[in-house]
Amino acid sequence: MKRITIVGGGQSGLQLAIGLLKKGYQVKVVQDRTADQIAAGKVQSSQCQFNAALDHERALGIDFWAETCPPVEGIAFSVPAPEGSGKALDWSARLDHYGQSVDQRVKMPAWLAEFCRLGGVLQIATADIALLETEAKATDLVLVASGKGEIGKLFERDAARSPFDAPQRALALTYVHGMTPRPQHSAVNFNLIPGVGEYFVFPALTKSGPCEIMVFEGIPGGPMDCWKSATTAQAHLDTSLQILKTFVPWEYDRCRNVELTDENGVLAGRFAPTVRKPVATLPSGAKVLGLGDAVCLNDPITGQGANNAAKAAAIYLDAILAQGEHPFDELWMKATFERFWDYAQWVVRWTNMMLLPPPPFVLNIMGTAQAAPALARRIANAFDDPRDFFPWFAEENAATEYLTRLQAA
Ligand SMILES: Cc1cc2nc3c(=O)[nH]c(=O)nc-3n(C[C@H](O)[C@H](O)[C@H](O)COP(=O)(O)OP(=O)(O)OC[C@H]3O[C@@H](n4cnc5c(N)ncnc54)[C@H](O)[C@@H]3O)c2cc1C
Repeated sequence: MKRITIVGGGQSGLQLAIGLLKKGYQVKVVQDRTADQIAAGKVQSSQCQFNAALDHERALGIDFWAETCPPVEGIAFSVPAPEGSGKALDWSARLDHYGQSVDQRVKMPAWLAEFCRLGGVLQIATADIALLETEAKATDLVLVASGKGEIGKLFERDAARSPFDAPQRALALTYVHGMTPRPQHSAVNFNLIPGVGEYFVFPALTKSGPCEIMVFEGIPGGPMDCWKSATTAQAHLDTSLQILKTFVPWEYDRCRNVELTDENGVLAGRFAPTVRKPVATLPSGAKVLGLGDAVCLNDPITGQGANNAAKAAAIYLDAILAQGEHPFDELWMKATFERFWDYAQWVVRWTNMMLLPPPPFVLNIMGTAQAAPALARRIANAFDDPRDFFPWFAEENAATEYLTRLQAA
């Protein structure tokens, strides 16, 4: 049976590794942090996944938190009124199937244990070129699923697929207990604050039980790009609350009794969304294939990275199985990524659109959704499959035509 090495034990790497083990492959994962280090470390993501991504985990029997993780039942959208308090726009819609967010500090240690239980070989090391060369010689396929890790720079940036060469948002996460639940049903509460950025919040499961994750997406240089002085976890929470009080007071009202889940339940940082060429050539001439964020890194504004990683891992698993005893050559590697890109290009396009000031026809769509539940429901459910946004969310003519049809119905 073929031998496969995967660098990076995150969402995409471990999901694929476990899928391969279950099909009888010999799999090694090279991971730079132990399970204990991941569990004791900082939060890395808000990792909300929707139904299609969760389905891939269910199919492998690794949805260990299906019963304990609170569901995300809908998407809510608000825009503050330009003057004073109140909302200019406010609607919500239910998802057809709930989403879930399991803190990666909970998920990855459990998946690492499952990988080892199934007979996988785990090497704790920071992979470098020399290690990749060794693995390329010893195995049939080397995949690099190192997320935002440095080794991913091995893959050339694909300028044609990467419109931005600088970070588009100052990002921050704050994990809290004690937030007042939203009425009716749980949801990703997405607040778009023109000229300032976005704030969204939703329920999740962390090390100490159910929590809420606050996600801040500040426009660089703007008032939500303000995390430098928050040098302690408590200062980070105070800054979070100050932002809510100033720009989205209805969200502040839900936070009167919040406390941090733990000292490591905070994060601040920024990165440029980047798509890379999927195949890299090592000095020896050996080829390695990129997977997940390593080659398709999106801004978290649309909450798609972990969803993409799960979908990519599922596509790669199918492609590896379909290749049977044939070699994993460069042609196969490129074709495998392109199968993923057939899907991911729409996620990337939509996510990158959301980073720019919305054109009037998009504002019109979001405004119309307040009075048109079918439209609100379609927008909410497209988070599970962003291909459904096209073309009507991206092209003015298509938007007009769709809204006219909707009104007629
Ligand atoms: C602020 C923020 C909020 C987010 N919110 C969401 C959300 O709500 N929904 C969503 O779908 N996505 C979200 N994401 C994105 C999501 O977390 C990632 O897209 C996803 O985890 C990517 O999976 P991956 O397998 O590619 O990489 P990762 O999960 O990052 O895993 C990579 C692993 O490789 C290891 N590694 C790195 N370099 C090396 C090396 N040289 N050798 C060995 N190991 C190495 C790392 O330690 C890590 O464990 C968010 C991201 C951020 C930053």
